[in-house]
Amino acid sequence: MDISKLAASIAESPTVKLNAEAVKLRAQGEAIVHFGIGEPKNKAPLSAISSAIEKLNTGEIKYAPSDGMPGLKKAIVQYTEKNYGRTIDPANVIVSDGAKHSIFNVLYALINPGDQVIVLAPYWVSYPEMVKMVNGVPVIVTPADGSFYPKLSEIEKAITSSTRAIIINSPNNPSGAVFSDEFVSQIVEFCERKNIYLLTDDIYHKLIFDGKKIAPAYNFTKKDIESTNVIVINGVSKTYGMTGFRVGWVVANRKLVKVMTNIQGQITTCNSPICQVAAEAALNDDQSSVDVLLDTIEKNRNTVMRELQAIPGMKIVKPQGTFYCFPDFSAFNKDSMALADFLLKKALVVTVPGREFGMEGHLRLSYAGAPGEVADGLARIKWALDPNAPREIQIGNRKVVRDW
Ligand code: PMP
Repeated sequence: MDISKLAASIAESPTVKLNAEAVKLRAQGEAIVHFGIGEPKNKAPLSAISSAIEKLNTGEIKYAPSDGMPGLKKAIVQYTEKNYGRTIDPANVIVSDGAKHSIFNVLYALINPGDQVIVLAPYWVSYPEMVKMVNGVPVIVTPADGSFYPKLSEIEKAITSSTRAIIINSPNNPSGAVFSDEFVSQIVEFCERKNIYLLTDDIYHKLIFDGKKIAPAYNFTKKDIESTNVIVINGVSKTYGMTGFRVGWVVANRKLVKVMTNIQGQITTCNSPICQVAAEAALNDDQSSVDVLLDTIEKNRNTVMRELQAIPGMKIVKPQGTFYCFPDFSAFNKDSMALADFLLKKALVVTVPGREFGMEGHLRLSYAGAPGEVADGLARIKWALDPNAPREIQIGNRKVVRDW
């Protein structure tokens, strides 16, 4: 069968693939610790579940407006006012099937063939593939100092007459880095001066540790919502543990929202009304579930730091947000794919190779799981990497013997 050249060039999502592999191994009875998937373990807020049930019980589950149901759009308008300090109109909001879909829609609406989109390494695995899917060209900018913090001077060097957009994600997947207000203000000013769109993927914006707060990109522009180059992407997946509901959104100028509504109307028609009423309830809720999640992942972050720092040779930068860390494992194996494979086979721990995020030598660990499971997984990694560790350990109902 002949597949189109474009489709054939798109890589499988490594995180989705790893998740499928972990589910399979678990089903076979293996005691897998899953540091692979970017998914909080907490349940969706009760209010979200009740709203979805209530909607189901009406028996009226029909098409919804392509840009989102009025109730959810109103909740997003209020969320934007409360969390971003911006007054917007429902016409500035479009609801899609998860933030992933939202980002794709923005790229589809903005990118002409050959247009370049700057992606900052380490980056979320899907950005470069999505840019390619709309016939754009991803241009990767990697901090020369080996840090997780991009510099505007480095981004400037990558700009050409074809640069159409820059994607930033802070708090960052995979590094957990939170970009400084100074950097965000510089890049907003730069993009508006050069008329480049700035896509801010804010999916982790509430998951910041140590009581810190960050200023939204909107704070650094004097332009109104109709003329700013800042485009905000957000969703309920991470903040409310609602990954399976598939609700994300974009806040942008009316023209772009209208174009994306046309696109969505031709492809998905609309997001499911069951999911939309659930998302509306989560956004309108008292937000206590977010505090509980943040408390769990911050404690997990501290455990991860303590345990990984104790492994000689490991280099780890303290994550300031998200539920990921991105340690440098190159002292053990420079090939992150081989190391992830080794840890899966020998220690039954799923990690994601840094190569997938544009930084070889690292592994991404997602520590959104139960604290006991996180501690167990870290102990196994330590055991697998320490040549002086005992020869044998018990993993689940399996005895694992060191043969390397
Ligand atoms: N952006 C980033 C940086 C992510 O890590 C993810 C999920 N892994 C998404 C977007 C997509 O989120 P959603 O589940 O809402 O599609």
